Formats: sequence, structure tokens, C-alpha cells
Amino acid sequence: MTRPLDAVVVGSGPNGLAAAIVLAERGLAVHVVEAADDVGGACRSAELTLPGFLHDVGASVMPFATSSRFFREFPADRYGLEVVHPAVPMAHPLDGEEAVLLERSITATAAGLGGDAGTYRRLLSAATRHEEEILDQFLGPLRPPRHPLLVAAFGAPALLPASILARVASRGGRGRALFAGMAAHSIMSLKSTASSSTGIVMAMVAHAVGWPIVRGGAGNVPRALAAHLRAQGGTIETGRRIASLDDLPAARIRLLDLVPRDIERVCADALPPRYRRSLLRYRHGPGVFKLDWALDGPIPWADARCAGAATVHVGGAFEEIVASEEDVAAGRHAPRPFVILVQPSLFDDSRAPAGRHTAWAYCHVPNGSGRDMTEAIEAQVERFAPGFRDIIAARHVLDPAGLEAYDANLVGGDINAGMFSLGQLFTRPTAHMPPYTTPNPGIVICSAATPPGGAVHGMCGWWAAQAALRALDRQAVG
Ligand SMILES: Cc1cc2nc3c(=O)[nH]c(=O)nc-3n(C[C@H](O)[C@H](O)[C@H](O)COP(=O)(O)OP(=O)(O)OC[C@H]3O[C@@H](n4cnc5c(N)ncnc54)[C@H](O)[C@@H]3O)c2cc1C
Repeated sequence: MTRPLDAVVVGSGPNGLAAAIVLAERGLAVHVVEAADDVGGACRSAELTLPGFLHDVGASVMPFATSSRFFREFPADRYGLEVVHPAVPMAHPLDGEEAVLLERSITATAAGLGGDAGTYRRLLSAATRHEEEILDQFLGPLRPPRHPLLVAAFGAPALLPASILARVASRGGRGRALFAGMAAHSIMSLKSTASSSTGIVMAMVAHAVGWPIVRGGAGNVPRALAAHLRAQGGTIETGRRIASLDDLPAARIRLLDLVPRDIERVCADALPPRYRRSLLRYRHGPGVFKLDWALDGPIPWADARCAGAATVHVGGAFEEIVASEEDVAAGRHAPRPFVILVQPSLFDDSRAPAGRHTAWAYCHVPNGSGRDMTEAIEAQVERFAPGFRDIIAARHVLDPAGLEAYDANLVGGDINAGMFSLGQLFTRPTAHMPPYTTPNPGIVICSAATPPGGAVHGMCGWWAAQAALRALDRQAVG
């Protein structure tokens, strides 16, 4: 006889699986329902171009998949999950001068920043010394800090717009360019409040834990999570899209790895009208336009040291990156977009046939944009790697509509499941507290539309599972 279910999770992205694991590890009976034919959401790998070329369809670089509280406790070794550290976390080529390298060592990075060396060393040394405390605070909902002085010291610069912090703290073009690229991971105007926070955290984790990729493809992360869930007695059903709560098997609690638009639709009258209206006010950020390439050789960077990094920020000087992100935030397409490029096969030979390579790159575009950015992205790569176009053997295009068709949570191509504005940083998806709970005690939200938002860290799922455990305790008492 099968056990009655304690919890059903809708969606098997990293957060849905993390939530399911936390509950299953407590001995609860958990079932996951996933619309796609495979687990993993925006963290899967596939042969998108040619046979033998394995591409990360979504996430690829995983600083938080080794450093977040959820992953620190996950027994990765047991499931053969292995990360690979490139010699250099990130390279940022510049016109007519050496590329800036974000190295594991703060001192080595600072040495490449000319007049900004001292400022960089001071800012990053303090943050990196307390990396675990800062990350634990950053990777969660708004709550009283356990280390108020530390958080105040980090929080003051983090709240500034990146464009202001870069101008105040940096005297040289190299430091500013580096910081603009890091802060642009926030996918918002670098003139927005708190856009610095992403830049500081991304640099801090590069020094503290690196920016690794996953051997054998990012898809090995959810595969390992799913194997662990099953080992705890959890079950997973793929190929089943949920349109209504009525489609789900009976359970004491439902956890939704969904975006607010779909939570509102799926839950319908199970949530009060006022809360449903607040879900519909949730704002998505810009989208991305992504290319995957099968390449006949390594990318011929003008500065060969760029081949030491899996991640390359292709966008040139500070002013250009600020203008590019400003264009996108204003609903325009940047003529010379800031491009984030990943070249995993240089560090993991399982990704492509011998001597050949894979790479992906994306730029930010207005949400839902239908504009083809292939030419603009490839022109930017060619600018810093002359001859790049000649080695393209095949390409695969994912525009915002393609991304959303692949994973319904990528609304309009928004890879963070919602804008990272100050108002949606810690209190997403609504002001309801804690944000994982809803007015219905049997419904909990566990997607990246809750704090801390996008990226593969499993922490939205971890926090949601804590909320679910409290709700189940209350049910037991009641
Ligand atoms: C192009 C791209 C590049 C990225 N790069 C990085 C990176 O390098 N590093 C990083 O850390 N992060 C990266 N990310 C972000 C990261 O992948 C996401 O933040 C993360 O996957 C969010 O996890 P999640 O579980 O909240 O949602 P998702 O991973 O989106 O999973 C949601 C799941 O729910 C399922 N679902 C949706 N609706 C239903 C329904 N009605 N019924 C049943 N199932 C449903 C979906 O099919 C999906 O499997 C990237 C994302 C993209 C798209």
C-alpha cells in the first residue's frame, strides 16, 4: 500500500527539488510533478547543435551550487556530482589593452587593476573574510542580521547604484569595467538602487569559492538532486503540466516552483482575491537572447589569457556596459550589447568531440523581445576574438519566446523569475511575510520568484521547505 502524501511539489527546477529533498529528509512522503520530460528546469544540458556537442541550455556557471547552505549540506560526492574550476573565474577583454582578469586571489586581481588595486583589495578582502555570513544573509528573505555590523559594512556600498559606486570607488577604467560587468548580472539598469549588491557578491564568491562549471554538464546537478530525493523515498513524475490544484494528488501541503502569474492561475479560488491581485502586480525583468555554438576550435581571443576563464564578459569599457543595460531597462535593444559568454569545453572535455568546442552567450533584451540579436552578439565576440565567426560549425538560437516555451518560469525570457528591483529583492513575490507562505496555509511558494531569487543555489526551496514544515506542525497541533 502506498503511503498518503505529505507534500506535493509542482516543478522540478533546482528550487523545487531542493524543497522536496529537505522535506523528504525529514521522513515526509513527497511527490514532485514536472511539466517537462526531464527534471531540472532552467538547469539542464542537451545536444542542441551537433551530435557529441553537449550544451547547458540554461545555467552553466555555479558559484552558489557549492557555497549556499542547501548545497553545503548536499552529499554531492555520493552522486558523482563534480565541479570543475577554471584557472581564472572570469576574464573581461578590453579594446587595445590587456584583458582584466578576475582571479581566485584578491591580490592577483588587484594587481591587474592599476590605480584601483588598493580599493579593490580593501573592499573584497573584508567581504571575502566573512563570505559565509554575508552569503547566508544575502541568500534569504529580509530578516534581522545575525552580524549587524558586518551587514551594515557590506550593505552600505551594496545599496548604491553600481554606476555611482564604480565612479566613487574607482579611479581607473579597468576596475570600473570589471565592476560594471559583475553588477550587470543583476539584469537591471546599473543606475538603479542596490545594483551594486550583485556586483559585490559575484566578486566575493569568485574569490571565496570560485565560479565553477559542472563536469558533464549543468544537467548533472538536478540529476543528482533527483537521485538523492528518490533515495529518501521521494517520487517524481515528469511530462505532466499542472493547470489547476485539482490536477494534483491529495497531500497535506502543496509547494509551487512556479512564477506568480501561474500560481494565480493554478490556485485560482484557493487564494483570496486580494492576494491574487498582488501576484498579478509582480514585475518581470528584461529577457535574454541566447546563442549556443558548436565550434571547430577554441575561441581565438586577442588576449589569449581569456582562455583561462570559463566565463568571459564581452562588452568593453564601463560606459559601454552602463549604456547597454540602460538601453535594455528603457525597453530598447543595445546596438553593442553587454554579452556574458561561457566556454565550458576548455575545462571539461566531455562537452565536445576532441579538438572541438562548445560555447554559449547571451545578451539582455527587453522582456518578450522578438528581435534577432545573433549578429549583434557575434560582432561583440569577433571584436575581441578576431576570426571567431570562421570557427562556428553550428549555432542554436533561444530567444525569449523559445526560453519560455522550454520552461514556463522564464516569462518573456526573464531568467531570474522576476525583476531584482529593491522592492522585489527580499520580499518577492508580494509583501506577504514570510514570502514563501500564502494566505492559504496549505500552499507554499518555492520558486526563484521568492528570495533570494534566480541562480542555482536551492535556497528558495530550502526556505520554502522550512515554511512548509512549520505549517505542517501547525496542522498536526490543530
Ligand atoms: C539562459 C540561462 C542562463 C542561466 N545561467 C545561470 C548560471 O550560469 N548560473 C546560475 O546559477 N543560474 C543561471 N540561470 C538561472 C537559473 O537557471 C535559475 O535561477 C534556476 O533554474 C531557478 O530554479 P527554479 O527551481 O526556481 O526554477 P526553474 O529552474 O525555472 O524550474 C521550474 C520548473 O517548473 C516546471 N513547471 C513550470 N510550470 C509548470 C506546471 N504548470 N506544471 C508542472 N511543472 C511546471 C518547469 O518545467 C521547470 O522544470 C540561468 C538561466 C537561464 C535561462
